[in-house]
Amino acid sequence: MPAPTTATTVPARRRRKKPPAIGFVSLGCAKALVDSERILTRLKAEGYAIAPSYEGADLVVVNTCGFLLSARAESLEAIGEALAENGKVVVTGCLGAEPERILAEHPQVLAVTGPHQTDAVLEAIHAHLPPPHAPFLELVPPHGLKLTPRHYAYLKISEGCRNRCSFCIIPKLRGDLVSRPLAEVLAEAESLVAAGVREILVISQDTSAYGLDRRFEPTSWRGRALETRFLDLCRELGRLGVWVRLHYVYPYPHVDQVVPLMAEGKILPYLDIPFQHASPRILKAMRRPAATERTLERIRTWREICPELAIRSTFIVGFPGETEGDFEELLAFLEEARLDRVGCFVFEPVEGAAATNFPDPVPEELAEERRARLMALQEKISAERLAAKVGRIEPVLVDGLDEEGRTVARSRFDAPEVDGRVLIESAAPIPPGTLLEVRITGSDAHDLVAIPMDDPP
Ligand code: SF4
Repeated sequence: MPAPTTATTVPARRRRKKPPAIGFVSLGCAKALVDSERILTRLKAEGYAIAPSYEGADLVVVNTCGFLLSARAESLEAIGEALAENGKVVVTGCLGAEPERILAEHPQVLAVTGPHQTDAVLEAIHAHLPPPHAPFLELVPPHGLKLTPRHYAYLKISEGCRNRCSFCIIPKLRGDLVSRPLAEVLAEAESLVAAGVREILVISQDTSAYGLDRRFEPTSWRGRALETRFLDLCRELGRLGVWVRLHYVYPYPHVDQVVPLMAEGKILPYLDIPFQHASPRILKAMRRPAATERTLERIRTWREICPELAIRSTFIVGFPGETEGDFEELLAFLEEARLDRVGCFVFEPVEGAAATNFPDPVPEELAEERRARLMALQEKISAERLAAKVGRIEPVLVDGLDEEGRTVARSRFDAPEVDGRVLIESAAPIPPGTLLEVRITGSDAHDLVAIPMDDPP
């Protein structure tokens, strides 16, 4: 389940003859962010300018999120703000799959398109703000425009989802799994590396399902015969010489095959697996993929192959019918699994999701209390796991400076935005994108403290 990102606007570039300017508000998960990057890339290629503010824009695009009730409310609010500040608004993204809902609240919007409909968004913009005559194609880098810092980038390998989890409406909003051709994904990854990206974050709704819809179609890349499947994708990305991090992986048996690549240092020893629960009864009601797999056994095997593997996961508490016994089972799983990073959500009855109508809803107060208990336990586990890293020498990638001017980096075990940080005590600030070795000197429940190996003692 994706974590929400923040609203974003992109700096403008002024030219002698002023081109039409587009303002952009991007809400939602990393997958929505990639959609925004694609739209911005096409706009830039057609010669539009990107405006940093509502006033400087001739039209505003709002890329919405429709995952949780709170995200929907935020999206509707963002549309209202863009209308009030600018007046010419095109809406796209997950909430766009329900145009009637948007038009009921904001009938003035110019057009509404659904998620990953780049062509439809461009058509709507053309209709209301025609492109200039001479596109500045040479101004667009081959890897497109990115909203992430220069040293890391998200690589979206597929759209949609073939699962039907009962609490989720993503398949309704984004459709069934459609994997991108392997050669196309690898070409994009190469181009990102050529542009200076040092960490690739592989994303989708279900990364381990990559290629299933293409029936593992045979293909070739750089003279090598490959199949369109998860293992071949990981193996090829592992040849690029940059950090490769896997998000939204499910504990299917074939995931076992990529763990040796982690042990060999080809891809990062990191798995982001949204387990969501541990009680078989609740997992069944959630209609989770791989719910019947013996997850703890699988985790043990992975750690035998790659002892330093870090596992991140998310859980939902307060799912309809969740008893104290089910919740205790989840806590026992956490004690046993000793995961590195954990996020926990309280169940939200999203309109259109099957689970919204399930009997025995859990009172909100009780669900919140369970969330707090789960997070308290995880904080203890996380603190212990981080303390075990003190004294180790680790490579880290610098992200920037914190409010106090300290250099902030991440280890191989931490993804940007969602995991912890490594705070570096160095004589001088270290530029973002630098990869260096540090000695871990301290820890708390979330972060590590370190000194660079090449700083004078
Ligand atoms: S795997 Fe389940 S939760 Fe994730 S997008 Fe697919 S249906 Fe939704």
